[in-house]
Amino acid sequence: MGQGISCRTGDENGFFSAVQFGDLETVQALLERDPTLVRQGTVYDRQSALHIAAANGQIEIVSMLLDRSVNPDCLNRHKQSPLMLAAMHGKISCVHKLIQAGANILMFDSLHGRTCLHHAAYYGHSDCLEAILSAARSSHVSLSWGFARFVNIRDGKGATPLHLAARQRRPACVHVLLDNGALVCASTGGYGFPGSTPLHLAARGGSLDCIRELLAWGADRLQRDASGRIPYAVALKRKHVACAALLNPSSAEPLVWPSPLKFISELNHDAKALLEQALMEANREKEKNILKGTAYSQPSPSHSDAGIDDNVSEASDTELCCICFDQVCTIEVQDCGHQMCAQCTLALCCHNKPNPTTACLNAPVCPFCRSTIAQLVVAKVKVVTDIDRDMYSSKLRRSRKSRNLSEGSSSFKGLSAVGSFGKMGARGSGRIATENDCIDKPFDP
Ligand SMILES: [Zn+2]
Ligand SMILES: [Zn+2]
Repeated sequence: MGQGISCRTGDENGFFSAVQFGDLETVQALLERDPTLVRQGTVYDRQSALHIAAANGQIEIVSMLLDRSVNPDCLNRHKQSPLMLAAMHGKISCVHKLIQAGANILMFDSLHGRTCLHHAAYYGHSDCLEAILSAARSSHVSLSWGFARFVNIRDGKGATPLHLAARQRRPACVHVLLDNGALVCASTGGYGFPGSTPLHLAARGGSLDCIRELLAWGADRLQRDASGRIPYAVALKRKHVACAALLNPSSAEPLVWPSPLKFISELNHDAKALLEQALMEANREKEKNILKGTAYSQPSPSHSDAGIDDNVSEASDTELCCICFDQVCTIEVQDCGHQMCAQCTLALCCHNKPNPTTACLNAPVCPFCRSTIAQLVVAKVKVVTDIDRDMYSSKLRRSRKSRNLSEGSSSFKGLSAVGSFGKMGARGSGRIATENDCIDKPFDP
């Protein structure tokens, strides 16, 4: 190995360490003296200067090398590109720069047959993951390969990026991948135990957050791996008690991100974030009961609880949801303009368990006027006039009262609102009651 390299190690060593530490002046001076250095590799791993700069996040050096027409796709000993190394080490600016310079996102290394997407997922760099995915959307890859195929790309052992993220306890990456069309129930070939799904691998890794994300996206607790085990059995064997509790098929089903929303193709980003937060809050409430028997205790005060309290204290200045009279209206239905809270929005189209044979792919309808929901957006905060204020304070009193009557938490109660839809008109203000007329009818005996 490395023939023809030994005679010049002096300059090279200085060059590579200058690259590693981002010493641009030294790098440029050495390149003046010997321009062939850009094409040299380190003795053992055959890392080029571009590899080293990318792995260390030395964006100035990366830019300078690319400006000198260094091939962005040069390979090291393991057929890894600089982009793979940048993704591995979470060097987002280098990832951007390399992609911009035309780096190929569809290359496989020779170690495990992994792409830059696998490396970003494995090492948990969700920002790099998103950068690569957005490049895939707009590049020839989506035309020639198909974007969905790229998201679900398999390594040498049949693992998709989602499998790796779930196994390595990377909930943010799991989220990004699911959001971009990763198949939640895909099973591996030989990675982990044969036939493992992402849920099996999350159970093995013991990440409650990953399990939460996967279940909320509809992962099947009853799917078996090649040796017939369900994820629950995997978590038990690994002694991940809390994970096992969630995965136990006899535990309450978590709420699942409603499939109709998956198909509102351009779901408004902020509205989506609110809905996702509401879904996770509701599932955390369910979890509290499930986890009661286990030694696992939730970190407190939990982030979600704080969020709810904030909403309530702001309620006097904003519109309360006319379905639950508990949460603030945060979501507006377009085109009709009706508003409700995120929890109620979800309740209208959430199923505890989606039935794949009857799963309705129709767009959900507005609960107030039954018109098709074209888009969900974040509701604008209304300016409150003095006259309105009386109305709000009476609503607030009602809200407090119903809060006291309820044993469940506020957010969870919101999600059960759909069950008591028929009573809505009676509790609502006059304005809403008239709007409710059309939907009260189907519920009347
Ligand atoms: Zn509501
Ligand atoms: Zn409406």
